[in-house]
Amino acid sequence: MAEKQERTVVLVKPDGVKRGLVGEIISRIEKRGLKLIALQMVWATKDQIDGNYPKDEAWLKKIGEKTGKNYQTYGLDVKAELGTDDPMEIGKMVRQWLIDYMTSGPMVKMVVSGIHAVDMVRKITGSTMPSEAEMGTIRGDFSVDDATAANRGKRAIHNLVHASGTIKEAESEMLVWFAPEEIHDYKRAEEDIMF
Ligand code: ADP
Ligand code: MG
Repeated sequence: MAEKQERTVVLVKPDGVKRGLVGEIISRIEKRGLKLIALQMVWATKDQIDGNYPKDEAWLKKIGEKTGKNYQTYGLDVKAELGTDDPMEIGKMVRQWLIDYMTSGPMVKMVVSGIHAVDMVRKITGSTMPSEAEMGTIRGDFSVDDATAANRGKRAIHNLVHASGTIKEAESEMLVWFAPEEIHDYKRAEEDIMF
């Protein structure tokens, strides 16, 4: 059944690895009934991170807008802090910080499959800013960072995990991280009962 086979990319970011949360993160994904079909530790190159994240205007703007909203919530002036309130410019700045962060240590990369895998993993992950993420999500349970704190240190938000945002993102990210023969096909024991 095609819907059981939707695939998404998950990266335990360098802060997640250094904090010993790899097992916890994988366990939450597995318990939900999602299937691990590729897994490896990797110290990424800047080029790989560049390839992992989109660079189109819409994506950069969305990052800038989320950032602006976060500043507004805490009554801070984004222009005074970052020198601009243009979402695109903020998006570009964040993308640079992100490359530094994601290459600051090894990560654990994986491909996960299952029913609505992209959306389901995003739910487990929680919202981008840990300070806004719901309890019960990985980001909500294990971190409390956000843009207002991260940007002051000219760094990316440390939010433990990356998960593809859309099926399209997942497809292009899979090409960055895995060769086709590194992605496996097998049946989980409880599949017939769960689905
Ligand atoms: P998500 O990881 O939830 O899909 P985005 O794709 O919007 O979030 O952003 C990619 C990553 O960039 C985030 O996970 C976070 O690490 C970092 N990031 C996003 N916005 C900011 C910001 N304003 N300041 C610093 N880092 C940010
Ligand atoms: Mg994203």
